Amino acid sequence: MIYMDNNATSRIDDDVLAEMEPYLRDEYGNPSAVYAFGSRVRPRLDEARQRVAMLIGAQPQEVIFTSCGTESDNTAIQSAVDVMPSRRHIITSRVEHLAVLEPCRRLRAAGYRVTEIDVDGEGRLDIEQYSEALDEDTALVSFVWANNETGVIFPITKLAEMAKSVGALFHTDAVQAVGKVPMELGNSSVDMLSLSGHKLHGPKGIGALYVRRETPYSPFIAGGHQERNRRAGTENTAAIVGLGKACELAAANLSVENERVRRLRDRMQEALVGRIPANRVNGGLNLRLPNTLSIAFKHAEEDALLGALSDEGICASSGSACNSETLDSSHVMLAMGVPAEYLNGVLRLSLSRFTTDDEVDEVVEKLPRIVEQVRSSSILGQELVSNSRS
Ligand code: PLP
Repeated sequence: MIYMDNNATSRIDDDVLAEMEPYLRDEYGNPSAVYAFGSRVRPRLDEARQRVAMLIGAQPQEVIFTSCGTESDNTAIQSAVDVMPSRRHIITSRVEHLAVLEPCRRLRAAGYRVTEIDVDGEGRLDIEQYSEALDEDTALVSFVWANNETGVIFPITKLAEMAKSVGALFHTDAVQAVGKVPMELGNSSVDMLSLSGHKLHGPKGIGALYVRRETPYSPFIAGGHQERNRRAGTENTAAIVGLGKACELAAANLSVENERVRRLRDRMQEALVGRIPANRVNGGLNLRLPNTLSIAFKHAEEDALLGALSDEGICASSGSACNSETLDSSHVMLAMGVPAEYLNGVLRLSLSRFTTDDEVDEVVEKLPRIVEQVRSSSILGQELVSNSRS
């Protein structure tokens, strides 16, 4: 199998699994217990909190463990409106993950004003429109740090400073960016940040929300005193330990692996762009995560592409995994103005530190034939294939 869908989820690192195992089997004590069998687990939770904080340039007490990136996003958004009751405006973008868009749309239905800022053809945020939208009524600004479909990175530090100028809270969904983009939150105006374990070679079902020490906060999940009254529920000890290890490894690998992965991605992109007629790369070339390639093929049906790739043992995606069940075009591609004839032929190939040169070679060898085959099954596609041959 060739796994090129790391933005959907990633393989758990063996070292992460090894650190988790004792907490799944023998060390099952509740960390809140008075007896040593439970309370001896607590230092491992503290260590994990420290490792997460290190990766994002924060203080350990600013890290709250949650069940996933989606919970972190929902918590940040609900908390912001709860602690700013006199403000009724939320700003986000048109290219957010549904974990941000849906809670914002719920708030709109509840009477909040929600502004979704546009992006340009390269996926860049319209900063002027954002600046004009900010006002004294804005409770929260929430922008994705790196887009899950295109890998396009927003200038989060600058966007957070702009939010501060009107006294709004600033949240970023950094689920795709953590471990790939260097971060120093202590020196920024970011109030809250969401991250998720399974996107950085940690386990699923664990995430974290960074909340700056001085940022007002209201818990989303109530019912217990865990996480210093900030997130109720018995701690998922093994997953927390795993997330901590995954963050430690991500920090150690960040610069070297980013360079290697970027070279692999760029080589793959160059070869595919050169060998397959009528393609377009989605997202500004210099603005992207090092691991992500979103490439669209004119008159090629993406479901057929994904099926044929799967038959060859290649796992890829058409964009957001959360959209693959629906027939709608991706809201991200629509926001970027991707032309209609490319809209249904989007392929996202996302690499990781486990991706090898041989795997890239195989994709580069197989994909041109697969695109040609898929195109041959439609009239417009057939025309394109014969025109490009002649
Ligand atoms: N935000 C972004 C940008 C994502 O890519 C994802 C996962 O696809 C999420 C949030 C949701 O994270 P989780 O799967 O941990 O709930």
